[in-house]
Amino acid sequence: MNQQFDLIVVGAGSGGYAAARTARDLGASVAVVDHGPLGGLCILRGCMPSKTLIATGDVAHEIRTAAELGVHAGRPVVDFPAVMARKREIIAGFTDYRVAGIETFPLFTGDASFESPHRLRVGGDVLEGKAFVIATGSSIMDPVFPGLKETGYIESDQALELDAPPKSLIVLGGGYVGSELGQFYARIGVPTTIIIRSSRLLTGEDNDVGEGLTEYFREEGIAVETGAQVVRVERNADGLKVVHYKQGGVEKSAAAHEIFYALGRVPTIAGLNLEAAGVKYHAVTGIVVDDTMRTSQAHIFAVGDVTGLFALVHIAIQQGELAARNALHGERERVDYTISKTHTVFSDPQVAVVGETEKDLQRAGRPYLVASYPFNDHGKAISIGKTKGFVKMMAAPEDGRILGAAILGPNGSDLIHEMIVALYYRSTVFDFVKIPHLHPTLAEIWTYPAEELVEKILAERPLAIAR
Ligand SMILES: Cc1cc2nc3c(=O)[nH]c(=O)nc-3n(C[C@H](O)[C@H](O)[C@H](O)COP(=O)(O)OP(=O)(O)OC[C@H]3O[C@@H](n4cnc5c(N)ncnc54)[C@H](O)[C@@H]3O)c2cc1C
Repeated sequence: MNQQFDLIVVGAGSGGYAAARTARDLGASVAVVDHGPLGGLCILRGCMPSKTLIATGDVAHEIRTAAELGVHAGRPVVDFPAVMARKREIIAGFTDYRVAGIETFPLFTGDASFESPHRLRVGGDVLEGKAFVIATGSSIMDPVFPGLKETGYIESDQALELDAPPKSLIVLGGGYVGSELGQFYARIGVPTTIIIRSSRLLTGEDNDVGEGLTEYFREEGIAVETGAQVVRVERNADGLKVVHYKQGGVEKSAAAHEIFYALGRVPTIAGLNLEAAGVKYHAVTGIVVDDTMRTSQAHIFAVGDVTGLFALVHIAIQQGELAARNALHGERERVDYTISKTHTVFSDPQVAVVGETEKDLQRAGRPYLVASYPFNDHGKAISIGKTKGFVKMMAAPEDGRILGAAILGPNGSDLIHEMIVALYYRSTVFDFVKIPHLHPTLAEIWTYPAEELVEKILAERPLAIAR
């Protein structure tokens, strides 16, 4: 007999697990389907292993630059097997905890495939659901460059799991994965070249952020080849992997022992048989959802990377929880990304953004004022030797409402939280300058652009409401 559930969650990563837990808390009968390995991308091959490794790279860098603070520590020696063993142990702990949570649900292990809008096959089992949440995540994109497949390369899964570091590395792609792991390998002593088509790393961010990071990478010895269009990849007579690229009309090449292909991911939809479920999707951009996370089939929801909207864990969770509530209560609660589209890059200096970027505001033709402040003029940053980068704040000219903020700087992923709270509570710069800040701290740097914005607004509109 078919087994019946109020909600069937397909994929037990961050988004699916959040949906399953929320639905059970609401009293629903919930089944979880996953082909494994259990744990989800973030824990197994994403956020957590990458940040664990990056911590090692950052320590090596601190040691290398410690003389600036009067400490002569010598050349750091990285014990790569020990680094990987530490990472494996940490990830095993996170995985065990998550798997124990997943196993509190009726769990069906295998590839899920829809037979009809209400029926799902998993191996020999057929499950019937009143509602579904699809959270099958994303997969690494096939290589697009001629010769790359034949030459051989690693992608992020392998970059997190090597037995030995490559003797030299070329990174193809300057998004967050390429930047974070490229810098990690460079910092543990691997000569690294990043080859990108655009004029800077992190092209999705405002130009000053991406340009700043590119400059800092170059300063610390990472070669960043910008404006480079890869033509072909091959292996040379010495066994090195060679990337030929065109830069400013000139054909150039770079050679290394390994190539890290870091150009992105695509939604995982293969085998789900979404046609049988009546769910619309695009092979590259993923399952089509509205802002209630419903697909084209009213009782089927999709969340997380498979929607192609954002590749961020906190958003997969937000979507998963909301989808579960909408699925069970028939509600039309809408997801709002105004604040939650906040994101960070764990490079050094770190990048973090909340609210609107200047690019967003310009695209929308929305008037704004901007003020920025560099860390190399900030007392605490100077005293601890962390002077790279800047913060900036954007505000509405009419009333000083903070529209967005960005940081390229030390501890950016933590410092941004003050601005997340400010935006959540719809703070104006007039409110913000009244908030006490401890001295001397990195966090007080936010008060400088806020003060400048207050002055700018009052200069233009002396009667602006200074609440
Ligand atoms: C190197 C790297 C670093 C990252 N760092 C960060 C970071 O610092 N911060 C951040 O917010 N995000 C980060 N991300 C992105 C983040 O990991 C993803 O956005 C998030 O994990 C996606 O969650 P999800 O629930 O959509 O999918 P997943 O966690 O991928 O879960 C999908 C699940 O579906 C299962 N599945 C797939 N197909 C089927 C099928 N047909 N049948 C049954 N089961 C199936 C899989 O086994 C898997 O368990 C990083 C990603 C990478 C690659």
